[in-house]
Amino acid sequence: MSASATPARRRSTAALLLAAAALASACATRPPSPTAGIDLAGMDKSVAPGDDFNAYTNGGWIKATPIPADKPSYGVFTILADQTRQRLLSLLEDSAKAGAAAGEDARKIGDYYSSFMDEAAIESKGIEPLQPQLAAIAAIADRHSLARVLGSYLRADVDALNNTNFQTGNLFGIWVTQGLTDPSHSYPYLLQGGLGLPDRDYYLSSTPQMAALRGQYQAHIAAMFKLAGFDDPPACAARVFALETAMAKVHATRVESEDVHRAVSWNRTELPAKAPGLDWPVLLEAAGLADAPVFIVWHPQAIPGLSALAASQPLDSWKDWLAFHTIDRSAPFLPQAFVDESFSFYGKTLSGTPEIRPRWQRGMDATSDALGEAVGRLYAERYFPAATKAKVQALVADLVKAFGAMIDSLTWMSPETKVRAKQKLATLKVGVGYPDRWQDYSALRIVKGDALGNQQRAELFEYHRQLDKLHQPVNRGEWWMTPQTVNAVNLPLQNALNFPAAIIQPPYFDADADAAHNYGAMGAIIGHEISHSFDDQGSQFDAQGRLANWWTKDDFDHFKAAGEALAAQFDAYHPFPDLAVNGHQTLSENIADVAGLLAAHQAYRLSLGGKPDAVKDGFTGDQRFFISFGQSWRDKIREARLRLQIATDGHAPAEYRADTVRNLDSWYDAFQVHAPQKLYLAPPDRVRIW
Ligand SMILES: [Zn+2]
Repeated sequence: MSASATPARRRSTAALLLAAAALASACATRPPSPTAGIDLAGMDKSVAPGDDFNAYTNGGWIKATPIPADKPSYGVFTILADQTRQRLLSLLEDSAKAGAAAGEDARKIGDYYSSFMDEAAIESKGIEPLQPQLAAIAAIADRHSLARVLGSYLRADVDALNNTNFQTGNLFGIWVTQGLTDPSHSYPYLLQGGLGLPDRDYYLSSTPQMAALRGQYQAHIAAMFKLAGFDDPPACAARVFALETAMAKVHATRVESEDVHRAVSWNRTELPAKAPGLDWPVLLEAAGLADAPVFIVWHPQAIPGLSALAASQPLDSWKDWLAFHTIDRSAPFLPQAFVDESFSFYGKTLSGTPEIRPRWQRGMDATSDALGEAVGRLYAERYFPAATKAKVQALVADLVKAFGAMIDSLTWMSPETKVRAKQKLATLKVGVGYPDRWQDYSALRIVKGDALGNQQRAELFEYHRQLDKLHQPVNRGEWWMTPQTVNAVNLPLQNALNFPAAIIQPPYFDADADAAHNYGAMGAIIGHEISHSFDDQGSQFDAQGRLANWWTKDDFDHFKAAGEALAAQFDAYHPFPDLAVNGHQTLSENIADVAGLLAAHQAYRLSLGGKPDAVKDGFTGDQRFFISFGQSWRDKIREARLRLQIATDGHAPAEYRADTVRNLDSWYDAFQVHAPQKLYLAPPDRVRIW
């Protein structure tokens, strides 16, 4: 469960640089005193905080800042991601100058990136690098060879509980981690897959927007076939779309996917009977899973549904579907015509982004994906000093203490549940910045000039690394985000948290800013992640990460009822007349926001040791705390991307996350919020879970 939606989101780079320059000159002349860390110009004080807190804290910035043409959304997360990419580029240039030896990580990173940037080599090869795969697909003559190719495509490309990524264009997604009830061994998790559009709703919903997108998607499939030189692209596209629509009909919904209790354990030998249709032994052999004794089947209705389609749907449909996905996912590494067509659909049509990002940014992201911790190691060495790590570890310790005090003071929680909650808090493993042990990339072969081959080898390398975990002791210190990721994540099965180095920077954490700022921004993020260990998901995983509800029934009933009130609060947000936020799909994240903000506020008060905070920039400490929180959710988003997020993401849109301050009594006191202001909630309607 991550802090933000998957697409990274963020003041302008210029504003950040100006702020940094101002700070530098101030420091040169006198000892630094902590700044308020607030972007005053970005606020809109003409709006009452109680009417629209997001507009009050961010309205000035929202009015002054266009979404750049190459972005689907723009805000704090995006600005920091851009800045991180820029830093990575300078790291790459420096290591190229230093001349890293063959086999060194820095050399692999440089070769991977430069191969992506070598457009002339990519153009001259055309789709030749894909020919071996397309030939293998064309050679499929029966259901056995179909199963073999389907199996050979499986990758570790989904994540059911940490990053909650449920999408893969392969028939199934594989995730490897601890067993739900057996934290001492790793298991392969089997998830539904196969769709090119983001979710089943895109195929089945009757809204005009979705119907239009379906037509545009079919045109995109046909365009890809045409570029690759296939005969009769429209007919191929129709077959692919019909097969995916059949898959969508057996797919679980996004809300169902979030329910861990739907998962079942099936022995490998049971798969052919439980999910008839596919040649399972052949598929598993090709996927490197022939010796896995037990599978955790995350989607026990969809897996049999998809397996049945493997038998019932025409072989030609499957071959077209495989060929399309092979071309489509390779598009970023193919000639410009493929890149353009891919962006035209996924960027423009699906996300509403007018222009594609510069190639170097795409290349940096691809490199970061392929060689995640090798890149992260370079980043952390230069940009994440030990002093910052120590300060954030201290902040984490404050938040843990505040959470413990919140548990102690709860009136509704039974004593036995409290004991278990405190146990879970005591064994929580918090990773700050980067992992204790770095991944070893020595077995990954990167070939200069082979952009697509490098990408495919990197994916396969990562898949094998994940499969190797099946034969090794469980590592509770494993990281699920790279250090250069601007985000944070809770890992329920490891009872652990990851706070990557790249999110530990202004405006989230500023070593020169005061406590109100850092607790309101970074503190709320840390509190958010801690609270996931105790929310509707976290309450189901004990101190060892085992799926075992450790709450009494009464406690759980109280929590559920409180959660329903929050779901109703978010259901009432309508970004468009025809579209509401899904309160249940986003409930876990919304609970984490409320609980995290409350814990951060209590930790902030504790840090003051009973003394009132100074007034700075005309704001009290509590006001600055909440303004920093609101500004940490600063974001603008295009309509198409917002619709996509609401359909597929477990996180509510950023503006409503800023507005969640309305659930805290201390926010009402800080800004004298009263009825009938729009965000005002009568005290019984404020959701207080912790
Ligand atoms: Zn979260």
